[in-house]
Amino acid sequence: GNPEIQNMYEAHTWLAKLYHHLLRHTKEGKDGYELLQERGLSDETIDTFQLGFAPNSKDFTKKFLENKGYHPQSMVRAGLLSYNDDGQYSDRFRGRVIFPIRNHQGKTIAFAGRSVNGGDPKYLNSPETELFHKGKLLYNFDLARGEIRKQGEVVLLEGQMDVISAYQAGIKHGIATLGTAITETQAKLIRRYVEKVIICYDSDNAGVEASYKAANILRKAGCEVRVASIRDGMDPDEFIRHYGSDAFRNEVLDNSYAYMGFVIQYLKRGYNMNNEGDRIAYIEKVLDEVSKMEKPIERDYYVRELAAEHDFSVEALEKEIIDRRKKQG
Ligand code: ATP
Ligand code: MN
Ligand code: MN
Ligand code: MN
Repeated sequence: GNPEIQNMYEAHTWLAKLYHHLLRHTKEGKDGYELLQERGLSDETIDTFQLGFAPNSKDFTKKFLENKGYHPQSMVRAGLLSYNDDGQYSDRFRGRVIFPIRNHQGKTIAFAGRSVNGGDPKYLNSPETELFHKGKLLYNFDLARGEIRKQGEVVLLEGQMDVISAYQAGIKHGIATLGTAITETQAKLIRRYVEKVIICYDSDNAGVEASYKAANILRKAGCEVRVASIRDGMDPDEFIRHYGSDAFRNEVLDNSYAYMGFVIQYLKRGYNMNNEGDRIAYIEKVLDEVSKMEKPIERDYYVRELAAEHDFSVEALEKEIIDRRKKQG
């Protein structure tokens, strides 16, 4: 293929090795190594994901790449260096733990860098390049693919730390998008391999909102979606560290909501359930969703549950559903 593109791949391979070596075996990488140890990652996990450290220098990476014979211009195109206003090239990743991002064939094509000292932004990713298209890439898909097939299911997590933590805990069919909402392209790609998706995002507001959006995009692509919910406002990585892998499997993944169960909880947001107007507005919204369900027994199940929880008659709710289904044709 194109030799410049080839160089961009190679440079990533070299740098991933270098950053990993620095983290594992040198004092330059100590800050990064300590952060990962505090996160409970074993050396084996650090090696599996080739986690590394980029020194806090403006030209460490630049010099390394120059010595390897790569043109700075080409390395800007690869997203590895920056070109500044003053006409100088400099390192893009500085003083950050490096997560190599592999494409679906297992080649490193980008990096995510996490600050170690609370610096802003917390995560700095490679920009869009000819090798790296964020909206098409699923983090860890190359390693997870076999297990996804075997289990007939995939776990969709929010961040790379969550994927890595889950992997170390034996949940090896986890993937993530990279700090962006899941795209239709990513959803279709998932559906080509598997039907069942467990969404397991952070339990903060942003995570719950993102779960709702992701669930709808995935359903549109033909996936059967479940949504896990983590208690105490934690994210998967924190939950695994606090409660262990068995609890994560049993209490989070195996306890996930079916889509409608999740929606019934989700739609409560913004309503005061002690107020009768709010309660009716809420029920109307839920019925919009329930009426779209194809299976009569499923509609029946939720109608009964809603009637009991909110003190409506089953007959009234059934009638609402029939009306809605007529309008839907
Ligand atoms: P950590 O556990 O290291 O604090 P996290 O994965 O819990 O990280 P979140 O704040 O929950 O971080 O963000 C989820 C994901 O969103 C991150 O893994 C990262 O991929 C992405 N992300 C977070 N902050 C940024 C940012 N400032 N720019 C780009 N992507 C980001
Ligand atoms: Mn989050
Ligand atoms: Mn998080
Ligand atoms: Mn986290």
